[in-house]
Amino acid sequence: MSQAPAEDDLFDEFLTQRGHETGDAGWEESYNKKQCPDCGGLHDRGASKCTVCGWTPV
Ligand SMILES: [Zn+2]
Repeated sequence: MSQAPAEDDLFDEFLTQRGHETGDAGWEESYNKKQCPDCGGLHDRGASKCTVCGWTPV
């Protein structure tokens, strides 16, 4: 199941380049996905920020 939007791929590359593991810090989890605690948007587990509202788990 690879329905991630291109933006998620870009973020994955970004994370890979920085050598960071994708953590779950700050994210809610729902149905094996990450959920933005701010707007409730669901994202792939590789997401590093919310592409809906721009929230980041920093
Ligand atoms: Zn959000």
